[in-house]
Amino acid sequence: MSGSIVLSRENIVADIAELLGVAPKELTDDTNLLDAGLDSIRLMSLVEKWRTAGSPGADFVNLASEPVVGVWLDAVAVEAGPVQEGMTMAIDDGSVVDVVDVVGVGFGPSNLALAIAIEEHNRSVDPEHQIAARFVEKQSRFGWHRGMLLPGTTMQISFLKDLVTQRNACSEYSFLNYLSQRDRLSHFINHQSFFPARVEFHDYLEWAADKVDADVDFGAEARGVAWDGEFFEVQVAGRPSIRGRNLVVAAGFTANLPNGVESSTRVFHNHQLLDHLRALPEQRHHRFVVVGAGQSAAEVTAHLHDAYPRSEIHAVFGKYGYTPADDSPYANRIFDAEAVADFHRSGADLRQQLLDYHRGTNYSAVDLPLIEELYRREYQERVSGNRRLFVRGASEVSKILDTDSGVSVRISHRPSQETDDIDCDAIIFATGFRPTHLTDLLGPLGQECETDDQGRPLVSRDYRVLTSDRVGGAIYLQGNTEHTHGLTSTLLSNLAIRSGELVESLVTSR
Ligand SMILES: Cc1cc2nc3c(=O)[nH]c(=O)nc-3n(C[C@H](O)[C@H](O)[C@H](O)COP(=O)(O)OP(=O)(O)OC[C@H]3O[C@@H](n4cnc5c(N)ncnc54)[C@H](O)[C@@H]3O)c2cc1C
Repeated sequence: MSGSIVLSRENIVADIAELLGVAPKELTDDTNLLDAGLDSIRLMSLVEKWRTAGSPGADFVNLASEPVVGVWLDAVAVEAGPVQEGMTMAIDDGSVVDVVDVVGVGFGPSNLALAIAIEEHNRSVDPEHQIAARFVEKQSRFGWHRGMLLPGTTMQISFLKDLVTQRNACSEYSFLNYLSQRDRLSHFINHQSFFPARVEFHDYLEWAADKVDADVDFGAEARGVAWDGEFFEVQVAGRPSIRGRNLVVAAGFTANLPNGVESSTRVFHNHQLLDHLRALPEQRHHRFVVVGAGQSAAEVTAHLHDAYPRSEIHAVFGKYGYTPADDSPYANRIFDAEAVADFHRSGADLRQQLLDYHRGTNYSAVDLPLIEELYRREYQERVSGNRRLFVRGASEVSKILDTDSGVSVRISHRPSQETDDIDCDAIIFATGFRPTHLTDLLGPLGQECETDDQGRPLVSRDYRVLTSDRVGGAIYLQGNTEHTHGLTSTLLSNLAIRSGELVESLVTSR
């Protein structure tokens, strides 16, 4: 197909009219769209739709600066160029494709958001311009940090930062649509909170994963990726390899244990907490130690205190006290799309400075109500004399002995250098995550990726890793780009926007 209109003037007027809830004939070239009721969120969804339909003139800032129908028509209308051979797959008849446009490694929230953005893109273009994608996920079903779905824990981001809203406020995959489908919309509104329970957000993600029209191989672990001169070949344990023109790696992070600590049934990272607790041998000591000062550490401490009412909980960390997470409005700007662009165009020193300024939004920081709740519990125990919760600041675990019957732990108070030896049933390290090295995921192909002086991948603004000329396709990263794209990289905050940017890059790099 060639020379057909991608975005005719009629289509553009129809799109605007639909969003405003008016008949197209009510819009003239002179209509001012702000006066007609268009707001920036709806404008964003139009821009997204038109950009994915291939309009280079669909630019949010430009359109917002002159919100007049005639001006927009001139800017946005575009004719399609000739179809580029071999860049799209025949997916319109539902047949199995041999080579896909993109293989996604991992199917957590990042690649789920991408799958939705691809589905929405495919709906807005004709079959020749659709993107064929396939995802491999090592878990047997969709799951988002299931081991930390602790009762009562809430999200650290607004529900509006769901999988889609910031990219397409009209998407059927929004958290609000999920609530409506679950018949809970008014109850949620009455709840008056921006922060759903983590269990509820997990249910939303599962709902979206069930609903999205995506080709996902569950129980499929990518063991390495090769470039065969024409395509990427993703090697999957126990299954045939999958070939793709491009790769999007969204495989999450590796749990971080302090040097020298070996994981066991009684010594473990918090990431799989619930599974480890289920597998815990009979309790002999009725005592737990939790190491760490971040949100997860505080949540684990509170959970153990609730779930084991006969046990002591010792929370150990180097600070004097937990630090409140900075969730204030200006600090939150560090998660905006503009901040990602700013971060990427900054030099190495400025990037580091920005990360340092705003670490407190995410790292080693705890929601203030949880800090207050822990303090309240500990204080009440002081009053009653029945102590079970011991928050031990300025301290560290200096020795561990893991035995059949429990773990002997030495806790050192750093200022006084006094030590306390206690026996416990388990010690939990809530000591964060580290990026997975690309070579661990990709195998030898990782060596074709360019890195900085700290071995971190060099990544362009559209999340594409710079590679040697030997690699013809694009390797995109979701996560593992904090050094190039800033603090949102490891979080959910920017998923919706990032997935739209990835689709745009996939489309334009054809
Ligand atoms: C307990 C907890 C709570 C959090 N809460 C928030 C929050 O409230 N707000 C926020 O913004 N962020 C939060 N985060 C940050 C978190 O990293 C993101 O929420 C999110 O998980 C990022 O999604 P992802 O898809 O990039 O990575 P993940 O969710 O880690 O998903 C990666 C997926 O890749 C799969 N995988 C890995 N290797 C392979 C392979 N070789 N082959 C196939 N599949 C593979 C994994 O099984 C996994 O399903 C939280 C993190 C934790 C641990």
